[in-house]
Amino acid sequence: MAPGEADTLELVTTIPELRSLRRAWRAAGLSVGVVPTMGALHEGHLSLCRRARAENDRVLVTIFVNPLQFGPNEDFTRYPRDLEGDLRLLRGVPVDAVFSPGTEEMYPRPNWASVEVAHVSEGLCGAFRPGHFRGVATVVTKLFHLTEPTRAYFGQKDAQQLAVIRRMVADLNFDLEVVGCPTVREPDGLAMSSRNRYLSAAERKAATCLIRGLRAGERMVAGGERDAAAVRAAITEVIEAEPLARLQYAAVVHPETMAEVRKIHGKVLLAAAAHVGSTRLIDNLEATPPGTA
Ligand code: AMP
Repeated sequence: MAPGEADTLELVTTIPELRSLRRAWRAAGLSVGVVPTMGALHEGHLSLCRRARAENDRVLVTIFVNPLQFGPNEDFTRYPRDLEGDLRLLRGVPVDAVFSPGTEEMYPRPNWASVEVAHVSEGLCGAFRPGHFRGVATVVTKLFHLTEPTRAYFGQKDAQQLAVIRRMVADLNFDLEVVGCPTVREPDGLAMSSRNRYLSAAERKAATCLIRGLRAGERMVAGGERDAAAVRAAITEVIEAEPLARLQYAAVVHPETMAEVRKIHGKVLLAAAAHVGSTRLIDNLEATPPGTA
């Protein structure tokens, strides 16, 4: 915050405080854009916040590292946490409020209720991270009930998560609009991610293999290749040529259902996941065959 500038950002850590803030906004008839995050914010998150700022009277960012969406051997305990740094970035947007609850606030007892979105949760990351999308859908449901968004903003960077949430909102009649936002990349193409800060200098260079592979696939689709297996093989080849990377999957799927595609007739999603060193990274691109509207 610049010296002399008023701090209008409201930091809320408890559910009663959040409910009272939300009640005041509702009474004033204000539209509310909500941006759910796990913190350790970067330009990707900020692009969602700016979009929310442009489209709503009030912007609320949630920062919560959700234990339900991490597997037992994943990085929950070492996931980067930097609330002070996050608040500084958010004041620059600016946003109106941040909801940053502790784990006990969100889960005061074991969660017996959960939300499962079938099919769309099952392939890609869902196949390698059992329970991950149940954890995501459950916490997003809680956050939607607590924050009552007019619009909620999610990144295309996590395309399967976005698809799961869209389907959940449609199937369960949540009264809000889900807004998908484009992936923000580093100048060399690497998708911004909170996990990029785990990478060593050599791994950081190697990490571009995901986008290089996906772009090779995108060129094939744009050039008229209809055989998804050939496109998948091209993506795989680029990623596997990188010695520091271990490919988890490369896939060609329907952009809404995440179902595997065999013959490419329309827009598809090319998606890949790989470990670079010990850091798991994901990325995706949409690809459109020639002559497709
Ligand atoms: P996370 O904090 O990683 O859970 O991400 C919070 C939100 O920011 C999710 O909707 C992500 O898809 C989105 N996001 C993360 N990285 C990017 C990026 N590079 N570009 C656009 N959105 C992103």
